[in-house]
Amino acid sequence: MSIVNTTIPNEGFALRRNLNPDDFDKLIKTHGARVKVYKTTLCPNVKKIDTVEHEIDCNLCHNNLFIDRDPKDGWSYLQSQKLEKMFNVDGTFDDQMVMASFIRGIYLQYFAKVELLDFTTTFYELIQRQNGDVDRLKYSAFEVGLLIDKNGVEYTFGQDFILTSPTRDIQWIGNRPSQGVIYSVYYEYLLTFRALKALHVNRFSQFGLPGSATVTPVEHAQQWILKRDYLITKEDLMNLPVSPNKVFVTTNSLEID
Ligand SMILES: [Zn+2]
Repeated sequence: MSIVNTTIPNEGFALRRNLNPDDFDKLIKTHGARVKVYKTTLCPNVKKIDTVEHEIDCNLCHNNLFIDRDPKDGWSYLQSQKLEKMFNVDGTFDDQMVMASFIRGIYLQYFAKVELLDFTTTFYELIQRQNGDVDRLKYSAFEVGLLIDKNGVEYTFGQDFILTSPTRDIQWIGNRPSQGVIYSVYYEYLLTFRALKALHVNRFSQFGLPGSATVTPVEHAQQWILKRDYLITKEDLMNLPVSPNKVFVTTNSLEID
């Protein structure tokens, strides 16, 4: 969003009371958290432009359905966290939603990816051992807490595997599960959300100092409901159910789902 006119005549309303957008930004910076907001767009690897049918095992978006690029740094104040877990009929835990106010200049779009830079949270997933040294994770791992294969063998960080740089996937350097063996990995990653519902957007106003001849048009800060990234499913997108948390891994140009 950009402003076409930078100033408009100040009509001198006697009762002008300014909601100072700069002060509001300061408030968010003082109490909020650092975030990265990505340019999110739909993955174009679909079968036809007029259908939503996506190619299986997509190398472009790794079946996230989104491509997230060129993040912008900003600040956000997150509140009304609904972190209690609800057990759904379909066997998944759900409902990690937050309300987030952003500083001006950070304008989101539906499903925009938002990463909190200073907080990690845990995630776990099943991975099938590939034929190279690297197995891809859904998120960049900060720290791996547990890695155990289907035979009950546990593997040790630094001895059996390390994390690649900069994507921080699993790289095997020692003992490893045989190719094709499924293992479970529990790790920390940066708390990641996607924008689900717009609460306050398109709030336009004008800001002016007493006595000045002109005022400046402003767009006020945006407020969105965010949902944990991995809980956003195709159901949210196109009313089609999909099994949660399904990860496809691709290494060495060989695809195994
Ligand atoms: Zn894709």
